[in-house]
Amino acid sequence: MIALLKDLVRIKSDTIEGANNALLFCENWLQERGIITTVLKHEEKLMLVAEIGAGDECMIWNGHVDIVPGNPAQFEPVIEGDFLYGRGTADMKAGVAAMMQAFYELSKEPENLLKKIQLHIVTDEETDGETSQFLVDQGYTGDFVICGEPTHLKIGLQAKGIIQFDVILKGKPSHGSRPWEGINAIEQAILFDQQLRSLSFLTASNEFYDYPSLNLAKIQAGERYNVVPDECIVSYDLRYVPGQDMLGIIEDLTKLANKFPKSELKIQTTAPAVTTEAVNPYIVRIAEVTSQFIGKPAVLFGQHGAADARFYAEKGAGAIEFGPSGGDWHGEKEYVSITSTETFKNILVSLGRK
Ligand SMILES: [Zn+2]
Repeated sequence: MIALLKDLVRIKSDTIEGANNALLFCENWLQERGIITTVLKHEEKLMLVAEIGAGDECMIWNGHVDIVPGNPAQFEPVIEGDFLYGRGTADMKAGVAAMMQAFYELSKEPENLLKKIQLHIVTDEETDGETSQFLVDQGYTGDFVICGEPTHLKIGLQAKGIIQFDVILKGKPSHGSRPWEGINAIEQAILFDQQLRSLSFLTASNEFYDYPSLNLAKIQAGERYNVVPDECIVSYDLRYVPGQDMLGIIEDLTKLANKFPKSELKIQTTAPAVTTEAVNPYIVRIAEVTSQFIGKPAVLFGQHGAADARFYAEKGAGAIEFGPSGGDWHGEKEYVSITSTETFKNILVSLGRK
């Protein structure tokens, strides 16, 4: 499996073409081991699906082979002690290699399989996640999904929802030497920001999160010293806590924006939260198997970012991020722990068996 992982790291999959090459490499690896694969294409991007087992229930293992760009040296994997260094080792070629290896091992013992297992390999998690979305839209959903992102073998069962929005605040222009004759749109934006931060939905919490997050990401306004600006656009990235009502939040934002004359609220992107619960039978079993392998109780946690799990969760599947230990993903010293990758693979094999 580590040889497979090293081969994957050597494939420079930071472009659509590169990610497709990595996916075709996976297809070939699986086919050489007698596994039937289906490769789908959506706008030049490839996805792979393979299935073993039978029955009504289906567990999905999802992994992405695309990576963020790295420096040339990162495409030659290097082992030091337990760590394998290289771009995409942690995020998430180790997860993919473990899933492929576990899938292959289980394919040799169909009589022992607990249920159907589908392997989904996708090529654009780091950019827009269209390929996982496409698979879900094509009906490749299941009862439970494991996205093998690096989580130190902790079970990331929730993820915050996303609302990204712009507010266009209007003022009234005047000469900069007579600001009292105008209305300064930038000052309106500052007022808006202050009032936004005191809205009650920003104090929500649940057992995994202390509060939502709000990032003022962009401000566009002002042209010259001697003019009172008549327009200011502020752009926010709001991540709300699972369990919060997204439409209710948007309603509150609309009400606030309406307090500012002629302002406009534009919702640019939304994504639902992942709300998998600790009592979900899959979570109970994964926690049980994991604790057997790591020799201590499994940890459940809530992710701050959102990965491909959300597309499946939207269709009602339980979905988690769960994978090996590593560090510095998207950084210069990205690495994964070899033993934790082996453990992750062994956990997957156990989960597949009766
Ligand atoms: Zn990732």
